[in-house]
Amino acid sequence: MSDADELLLPPGPGPLDVPLAEARITGLTRATATKLGKGLELWTVRDLLEHVPRRYIDLSRTRTLGELKIGEDATTKGRIVRVDGRYLRSRRHMLTVTIGDGSGYVDLIWWNQPFRGRNLRQGMDLIVAGRIERSRKGRRLMISNPFVEQLTGGGVHTGRVIPIHGATAGVSPNQIRRYVYEALNRFADRVGEPLPGALVQEKALPARASALREVHFPTEERSRRAARRRLVYEELFVLSAGLAMRKRRLQRDEAGAELRDERGYLDRFLGSLPFTLTAAQRLAIQEIAVDLGQPHPMNRLLQGEVGSGKTVVAVAAALIAASAGSQTAFMAPTEVLADQHFLTVSRLLEQIGHLAPADTGRLFGEGFRVALLTGSVGGKERQRALEMAASGEAMMLVGTHALIQEGVTFDRLGLAIVDEQHRFGVHQRLSLRAKGKHAQPDVLIMTATPIPRTLALTLYGDLDVSTLDEMPAGRTPVETMVVRDAAGRETAYGHLRAEVAAGRQAFIICPLVEDSATLEAKAAESEYERIRADVFPDLRVGLIHGRMKSQAKDEVMTAMRSGDLDILVSTTVIEVGVDIANATVMVIEDADRFGLSQLHQLRGRVGRGAHRSRCYLFTAIDPEDDDARAEAMRRLDAMAATADGFRLAELDLEIRGAGHLLGRGSVGEGKGAPLQAGRGDLRFANLTRDVEILVEARRDAFAIVDRDPLLAHDEHRALLDEVRRRFADRLDWLFAS
Ligand code: ADP
Ligand code: MG
Repeated sequence: MSDADELLLPPGPGPLDVPLAEARITGLTRATATKLGKGLELWTVRDLLEHVPRRYIDLSRTRTLGELKIGEDATTKGRIVRVDGRYLRSRRHMLTVTIGDGSGYVDLIWWNQPFRGRNLRQGMDLIVAGRIERSRKGRRLMISNPFVEQLTGGGVHTGRVIPIHGATAGVSPNQIRRYVYEALNRFADRVGEPLPGALVQEKALPARASALREVHFPTEERSRRAARRRLVYEELFVLSAGLAMRKRRLQRDEAGAELRDERGYLDRFLGSLPFTLTAAQRLAIQEIAVDLGQPHPMNRLLQGEVGSGKTVVAVAAALIAASAGSQTAFMAPTEVLADQHFLTVSRLLEQIGHLAPADTGRLFGEGFRVALLTGSVGGKERQRALEMAASGEAMMLVGTHALIQEGVTFDRLGLAIVDEQHRFGVHQRLSLRAKGKHAQPDVLIMTATPIPRTLALTLYGDLDVSTLDEMPAGRTPVETMVVRDAAGRETAYGHLRAEVAAGRQAFIICPLVEDSATLEAKAAESEYERIRADVFPDLRVGLIHGRMKSQAKDEVMTAMRSGDLDILVSTTVIEVGVDIANATVMVIEDADRFGLSQLHQLRGRVGRGAHRSRCYLFTAIDPEDDDARAEAMRRLDAMAATADGFRLAELDLEIRGAGHLLGRGSVGEGKGAPLQAGRGDLRFANLTRDVEILVEARRDAFAIVDRDPLLAHDEHRALLDEVRRRFADRLDWLFAS
């Protein structure tokens, strides 16, 4: 067995991969272990040790109740004088626990957590921490959702800074703190050190074991910070090392064809365009041309806002390939999009089609032939498309993942373009690569979801990135308004009607129903009925949702495209790339339920033509209500205020965290994302705050992989193990040749 084969075997368990149920930690029963696993994804000792606290409370500095001031975060002590739990008329449960210490009283309030009261009794001494507020009636001080710990019974870690860990139903932060404390003591010598010794020395990093201890039980703020920094650095370093290994491997792979604009197609294409390219488009085409000419396969991401002109760049790339005699596969995530790309590409190529036959000879038959292959292309048409790909007659085959199924062969595939790659897994990317008969095809991945720089560096750290950060001239930004009440809704509908009267079209996006396509379809149908029968009975209204047969979807999209519909009621199937220049109104119901990036995608469906467009964000939330809703308002207001997709993506990251960007919604399934590989999400790093550490870790990791591409040196053994564990479910992606 070769070394490379060995790398593909699943990594064995590390010294800390002891299941919590078998770790014999005091009080940590099998049932508790199950709760920790299911609730917090803590299955092993390692998971537990890497479960960093959400915050800390300084119990060494408490104040008397009389000293408390409204608005401050404070730690205090007192004896319970009253416990009162009741259901209010609103059917919310309110638990009030009053504590006193002779200098004053404070009410501790919990909403909808009746179980909290079970362990709290009059006479008990508590240590309490939280934000001091004025009670509703105004006279008393209160703390909502405070941290509490019983003082008597010798709470383990009173009198110092204690960690508050994220907890789950049936396991309290206090319990978790005890488990972590014991695990740190018992397993410290097994923690190990994945970072190369030289690096640890040079950067004067604390050892991993002591960093973990310090992060859980800080001795002082400065060393806690250093400890956290080390763990963040290490995490991003290991991730980057994996990405670097993959990138270097692809670069060393000499199996790619060298594609150059031998017949001058690119120049002629650019000359034939009815518009001038933006500087960003020109640069992207140049970067791609250089990559295509290299002996190793291109692996490039083209990211750009909706409407920034990615398709033109993609066609330019395909023409370079054609000019060198190679075919292109162009893969889209949905049939609607594949159809649309097919139309766009055919239209763009038509203009120069007459240039082809003269000098292509037998290469591409007559003109630049493009074939379409999706699930709903059947019979003779399908046969023909397959033939055109296999014989090499088609310069491009456009389609959905039908393209990578069995039975599709290319005569000489040179370039694979994958639109919206985040909807595919990395594995699908791989099988597309395997379609190349003679050499590895070059790969260009396009995404319309702007990814903040930090995420791009980690998510796509193995790719080179071209960015279209500039819109073609003459675009007016879509005017965006948040609509909160019935009057606003009437105004919006009035505007929609006026636009239709002026010959324009509109989209109405239905509420998002997460996790159930069937329910979502039902909701769309009822919204469609309401719009068609009650709101706009005189207009031509269509419906499209994910549960419809693809033929029915096609018919609806065709009707919309050809102007036979005034309004299209839709679920988010419309989200990606749909191009209807005549649409000028976008209405989004329950807009607060969508992420910023997703809203931005939806909004991008309008404002694609010459006419001024408007987007209405409907929401029923009450801005005065609670925190979650205030957050939703912040997002909607941001949408209304900015048209910059990159800025919005950064905000989304800031507000909702990376998990959300990676999950369902904005960056699609995220299944192919290395961040979700192996042990799952980032545990220490916060991609919004830790950009500098990321850049440093990335630079260091790439430098090491440069010197030792397979991490085969002894001093990199532990690092290689760690990389393999991190990418455990993706080893072929990382190492396969
Ligand atoms: P994207 O795929 O990035 O959403 P497209 O490539 O579909 O964008 O381009 C959107 C529209 O803008 C298309 O109609 C395209 O022909 C046009 N377009 C592209 N580049 C330019 C440009 N530089 N100037 C003017 N119009 C352009
Ligand atoms: Mg496009």
